[in-house]
Amino acid sequence: MIKDLKEKIHGYALKNALHYNGKANPGSIVSALFNEGLEKSEVKSVMPEIQKTIDELSKLSLEEMQKEYERVKEKLSERESREGLPELPNAEKGVIMRFRPAPSGPLHLGHIIANMYSSLYVKRYGGRFYVVIDDTDPETSIKEAYKNIRKDCDWIFGNVTEYINASDRMELYYKYIKTLIETGNSYVCTCTAEKFKELAAKGEGCSCREKSPSDNLKDWKRMLSVKSGFKEGEAVLRFKTPEEEGGMKNPNPAMRDFPLARINETEHPLQKKKYRIWPLMNLSVTVDDIELGMTHVIRGKDHKDNAKRQRMIYRALGVEKKFPWTFFIGRIKFTDLELSKRKIVKAIGEGKYSGWDDPNLATVSAIKKRGYKPEAFRKFAEERGLTEVDKVINSKDFFKIIDGFNKNN
Ligand SMILES: [Zn+2]
Repeated sequence: MIKDLKEKIHGYALKNALHYNGKANPGSIVSALFNEGLEKSEVKSVMPEIQKTIDELSKLSLEEMQKEYERVKEKLSERESREGLPELPNAEKGVIMRFRPAPSGPLHLGHIIANMYSSLYVKRYGGRFYVVIDDTDPETSIKEAYKNIRKDCDWIFGNVTEYINASDRMELYYKYIKTLIETGNSYVCTCTAEKFKELAAKGEGCSCREKSPSDNLKDWKRMLSVKSGFKEGEAVLRFKTPEEEGGMKNPNPAMRDFPLARINETEHPLQKKKYRIWPLMNLSVTVDDIELGMTHVIRGKDHKDNAKRQRMIYRALGVEKKFPWTFFIGRIKFTDLELSKRKIVKAIGEGKYSGWDDPNLATVSAIKKRGYKPEAFRKFAEERGLTEVDKVINSKDFFKIIDGFNKNN
């Protein structure tokens, strides 16, 4: 029989009840006890104690349970009392992970939830946690966002290894573009967006697709040149979806020769007028992941197609083996919160909110101002676990859960 059996049953019952909104499941407690060394032949004899404990706990509020659990959790076995997140594959030597916010407005609850996992795993295994500010869209990048992203991430994660501005890496992106063109994996397309779309829908490529690498290099130079070059909208750099992926007949039209870079002459908040060709997300993400040696990526499900595109670029560059282990985390959809950065910025501009930290917003700075501690969100992520399941919730119910974690710090 295991040592301190009653205490352990109590601890696991609490843990399980907290996970399932107050109601523990006897089966889960038994399987936790197996990890502690319980023998199958002993199950029958421990069931009455488990049932008794569950009945007693059902009289407690969630808050009381949380307090009680904090007190007893140390006594649970190493494997169980440690953070509730599962182990990652190939992580023993440390992990390199990232968060790539676009500086188009304030970071909010959605960013906290989706990226807390990466922060926690870097804490667990050691390694590097990069925040790459994805600012290669000069039209949506706002100066104010840069320092706010740093402030917010320092507070909420507390373990950012380095902040990188994507726009400081333009020469690197250009270098990779040149390689992709030279190896026949990318071409300059001068068709109108409508014409390309029309052909792509039929599973056909345009004539630009057939150009030689040397002609494409010439056209790429024309894209870069302000004086004699193409104007905005006149040319776009495309990835040539390989034949083994179906080429222009890939079952998903969005995978057919997707764009890698475009001309945009809008003044950039940091780089000003220095560049006119801007890489699109799939290119900059791929280049940065390769260069920074990304090992594991945890991102929203809405990025599944992008991950496929990025893997194609990895393969085109001959480094598919280095493609990071990727997990697509389920989304938490709030029924009553505005979580679009651009819409938040717009509403602030219209005077609907006092600023980025208006208490009626679910921005990181507003959450901080309301007295929440980062620990509460860490615990939330651990309790929720690494899941692909989406959840729909209203903000009141959500913050009730967070309140439970927040008060016990
Ligand atoms: Zn074309």
